[in-house]
Amino acid sequence: MILQSIVSVVALSVTLLQGSMNAAMPDKNIEGTLFLVNRTHMISENYIPEVRKTDVYGMSQSMRNDAATALEEMFTAAKADGVGLSTVSGYRSYAKQGTIYSRKVKTNGQETADMLSAVPGASEHQLGMAMDVSQRTSSRLNGNFAKTKAGQWVAANAYRFGFIVRYQEGKEAITGYAYEPWHIRYVGREFAKEVFDSGEPLDTYVSAHRLDTYQYLLQITNEVYP
Ligand SMILES: [Zn+2]
Repeated sequence: MILQSIVSVVALSVTLLQGSMNAAMPDKNIEGTLFLVNRTHMISENYIPEVRKTDVYGMSQSMRNDAATALEEMFTAAKADGVGLSTVSGYRSYAKQGTIYSRKVKTNGQETADMLSAVPGASEHQLGMAMDVSQRTSSRLNGNFAKTKAGQWVAANAYRFGFIVRYQEGKEAITGYAYEPWHIRYVGREFAKEVFDSGEPLDTYVSAHRLDTYQYLLQITNEVYP
């Protein structure tokens, strides 16, 4: 009887712990929307998400289903506001990223390539939750996008659909990448609003989020086991 109780308590604790770990570290949950990818948090070569083609104007590009649906809603809303957006680059495999990176190194040299392009495993495009967008009239990706009507619309409205402009101006030291007004990352509506309001990059946001969740769990534990 006592042994059974002990076994039950241990089993319950393990289940609670696993749930808590997932909640406390959303940046490590690759199925979630806060999974963090940067130069120090890399994705495995073997990670291949389930993606689908996005049904919007632009080059044929894929994303994870939740992100694709949100992108379609965003493009529709932009159009209603008289803003024409176009997709340029969505999901990219580990191998494809490797090809892009090698080409950048050849053309620009290692140092510049590292600011402009991700080594394979360090790109959000492999997650299927990132999209490079441009205005309809030009598919070029450069800083000028921020000055266009389309770029300004994206900067002001993307969060309403669950996207953040991932690599902000002035945050290069934190994100490790040059300013990319065209690169949007899906995190879901709730988180996108919070990240947008914070004005901080995702890297900073998830650290703070982890701490909040940790403190919350600590508080619950103290209430249960005073
Ligand atoms: Zn991108």
